[in-house]
Amino acid sequence: MSVPQYPVGSLLTAAETANRVEIDTLAPDGTVLIIAPHPDDETFGCGLALAAAALRNRRIAIVLLTDGEGSHPNASKLGPKKLADLRSNEFVRALSFLAPMGEVNVLRLHLPDGKSRYHRSQLLRVLPFSLAQSASVVWSTWRGDPHCDHETAAALGLEVARRLSVPFWSFAVWGRFGKRAIPTGLQTFHAPGLVDLKCKAIAAYRSQTDPQVIDDPNGFTMPASLVTHFATHPELFIRG
Ligand SMILES: [Zn+2]
Repeated sequence: MSVPQYPVGSLLTAAETANRVEIDTLAPDGTVLIIAPHPDDETFGCGLALAAAALRNRRIAIVLLTDGEGSHPNASKLGPKKLADLRSNEFVRALSFLAPMGEVNVLRLHLPDGKSRYHRSQLLRVLPFSLAQSASVVWSTWRGDPHCDHETAAALGLEVARRLSVPFWSFAVWGRFGKRAIPTGLQTFHAPGLVDLKCKAIAAYRSQTDPQVIDDPNGFTMPASLVTHFATHPELFIRG
């Protein structure tokens, strides 16, 4: 996936006139189960909604598909294990800003970063966790995100929601950029009062936003223009 440099795209244009969705609709009483492909998607993609749900005393549970060890494949001083540990620490720190009042239960599947495909075995691991957490809604990345791990999360999220008979919402991360077919049910969520928290959570992901942190000329760095965009723009949710 090539990383766009500027926040433009057909979903973003459509979002300008899309309906707003309220947090009580996105997060009914109970537990919000979020299926995130990588540590940081929960922050960039739905950090405002996550924080708003936590403020409404919803419990938060996260299924983390991968450890994010693929973001810097040629890091000279960090192997995949140390990179995974670094990203795990960033994930915990980001959540400490978004959901400071409550414990966030996390299930890690340790799938290979950048190589996952939806498989029934994932469902068999996630369903018992979802039931134990009393999930009342499932959020995942959008199936239109052009990244295989994001597609895996979308397929898994849809199936978990279907098995539990609870609502399913997906949030667009990379699919918001570029030319895409506009999905029916696109809505936006915004909470300007929580932008500061989201900014702090994003800042926790130094390995993804500061090219000086890890020595890898081929490593991923979120362009500054996109960091600002994700921090301040309404989040894009698609029902179903
Ligand atoms: Zn991701």
